[in-house]
Amino acid sequence: MIELIKKLSNSHGVSGFEGEVRELIKAELEDFADEIKVDKLGNLIATRNGDELDLMLSAHMDEIGFVVKKIDEKGFIRIAPIGGWFSQILVAQRVVLYGKKKFYGVIGCKPPHVMKDEERKKAIEIGDMFVDVGARSKEEVLKLGIDVGTPVAIDREVELLVNNRITGKAFDNRVGVAVAIESFRKCNNSATIHFVATIQEEVGLKGAKTSAFLLEPDIAIAVDSCVSTDFPGNESVHMDIALGKGPVITIVDASGRGLIVSQKVLEWIKKTAERNGIPYQLEVAEGGTTDATAINLTKEGIPAGVVSIPARYIHSPVEVVDLKDVEWAVELVKKSIENVRDYFR
Ligand code: ZN
Repeated sequence: MIELIKKLSNSHGVSGFEGEVRELIKAELEDFADEIKVDKLGNLIATRNGDELDLMLSAHMDEIGFVVKKIDEKGFIRIAPIGGWFSQILVAQRVVLYGKKKFYGVIGCKPPHVMKDEERKKAIEIGDMFVDVGARSKEEVLKLGIDVGTPVAIDREVELLVNNRITGKAFDNRVGVAVAIESFRKCNNSATIHFVATIQEEVGLKGAKTSAFLLEPDIAIAVDSCVSTDFPGNESVHMDIALGKGPVITIVDASGRGLIVSQKVLEWIKKTAERNGIPYQLEVAEGGTTDATAINLTKEGIPAGVVSIPARYIHSPVEVVDLKDVEWAVELVKKSIENVRDYFR
C-alpha cells in the first residue's frame, strides 16, 4: 500500500492536467477490470461487471496547483492558483513545471537580510510570488516549452514518520485513489462496479458531475480525504476527527449546502463497519465537500455516501495520514461494495 501511495502522491496532476496520474491509475487497474475507458473530459472509468445494480466508486485524481500567468523579461514566472491554497505555506517550496519535459523551479522570496521590519511581519500573497527555474531571460523560458498556461505542481516526495504515519503532498486525494484502487482490486462484487478516477474535483466537482451523468449509477461512494482536527491550537474548531481512529463517514458537509447523506446510505456504511469490526469516525463539517455532492444531484438523484481518510495539514505539501486509517478505509469500502445488495435492491 505504501508503495502505491508513494507512486501516486509523488506524481503530478494539477486540476485539468491529470494525464500522468491517469496513466498510473490505468496501469494499476488493467488486470482487474472488464473494461477501462477515458471519457471526453478525461475521467478514467474502470468497470467490473456484475448484476444489474450499478455502483459508482469515485475518487478524484487531481491535486491543487498553479498555472503560469506571466513570464517577465528576466525569466521569472508569475503563477495563478488552481484550487484552495493558503498563501503562507507556498514561499520557499520547490515546484515542477511541465514544459517540453519536467523542469524544476523554486518559489523564491526576498532574504531576511534585505527585508524591512514591516515586511517580515506581513504574509506574502500568491500574486506577489514568483517561480525561478534558473533561466536568464523570457526567451530562455519559452524555449523550455514553458509559457502562459503551463501547469505548475508542488514537488515533495513521500516520507515515513513514526507510528505508521506518512507525510507528502497531494494525499488529498491520491490516498483516496489508492484506497479506491485497492478496494476495487480486492472486492468480491455482486453488483456492477464503476471505479471513476475523476478530474477537476478541487475546482468544482466537474468530473464527478459528467461521469455520474454518463453512468447513471444506482448508488455511489466517494473516497476522499478530510480534515483531521487533532493538531495544536484546534480548540476553536470543535470537531473530533483524529488520526488512527479509523476512516471518516460523512453525515453532513459544507453545512448541508454540500451533501446531507441519506439515512439509508448512512445505515449501509455504518452497519458494514460495525459488523466487520472496523473503527470509524463521524463527520459533520461546515466547509469542504466531495464528488458525492455532484453525484447526488445527477438526473433524478443518486444516493451517495463518503468515506474519507483523515489527513492533517490538508492542502499543504506536508499532509500527514496514518496507514492504519488507510487499511481500515480499504476494508470498509471493500465490504460496503460486497454487501450493497443487502441494503439496496
Ligand atoms: Zn479531496
